[in-house]
Amino acid sequence: MARPTPPRAAATGSTTAAPPPSAPALPSRQDVVARYTGVVPRAFGLDVPGVVNRLPTQDRVIALTLDACGGARGSGYDAALIETLRTTETPATLFLNQRWVLAHPDRVAELAADPLFELANHGTAHLPLSVTGAAAYGIPGTTGPGEVFDEIAGNRDTLTTATGTAPRFFRSGTAHYDDVAVRIAADLGATVVNFDVNGDAGATSAPAQVAAALRSASAGSIVIGHMNQPGGGTAEGVATALPHLTADGFRFVRLSEYLP
Ligand SMILES: [Zn+2]
Repeated sequence: MARPTPPRAAATGSTTAAPPPSAPALPSRQDVVARYTGVVPRAFGLDVPGVVNRLPTQDRVIALTLDACGGARGSGYDAALIETLRTTETPATLFLNQRWVLAHPDRVAELAADPLFELANHGTAHLPLSVTGAAAYGIPGTTGPGEVFDEIAGNRDTLTTATGTAPRFFRSGTAHYDDVAVRIAADLGATVVNFDVNGDAGATSAPAQVAAALRSASAGSIVIGHMNQPGGGTAEGVATALPHLTADGFRFVRLSEYLP
């Protein structure tokens, strides 16, 4: 497996101890507004330039990603699903919305401490990420570069405070973006990750549909599911599919094992 190696700092040849290199400062809201006001997007949807939909590998691996959307109808916790992942030692990347994070501080701490999981950013107010207010599923998106910044940085800061680690990956509410918003995310140090396998259709699928969707995965697939709807079919479908996928030679990975 060709796992990417993080770049090393170049040797300076100096004999004096240099301070450790610090990460470059991220742009401020003001910087983002100045840089992107008036920039016109060319695309809007699930698959626009800069969005990662599959892992860049031929390895027989699958990244399971689970969203926790938060809000009045989205703040549940699917304990059975998480328990299945733990019992089967299946890694996953968990995309948490700020509303869910604030509703579940103890769960967030517990999940952050579990090496099976890595936590990622599912937005502040769970909005489509747009500089023009473009809507998805009837939900109006952010309306300009400043609101794009808020949608990413608000929950980034909340997750960083809650866990001590800044999230590397971002997925918007509805998983819709325009290409300018994706560029802003990149400027803010976030890799935007969607999926090529829709595992549970927004947690509306029956268990057999979830299992069939997962079994359609191929090498490098990124599967989306939900961990915030315990009444849905996701947990049972995942539990059904996992042994088949393992028997087929697949290994589950966290996104960070294959993405920068
Ligand atoms: Zn969501």
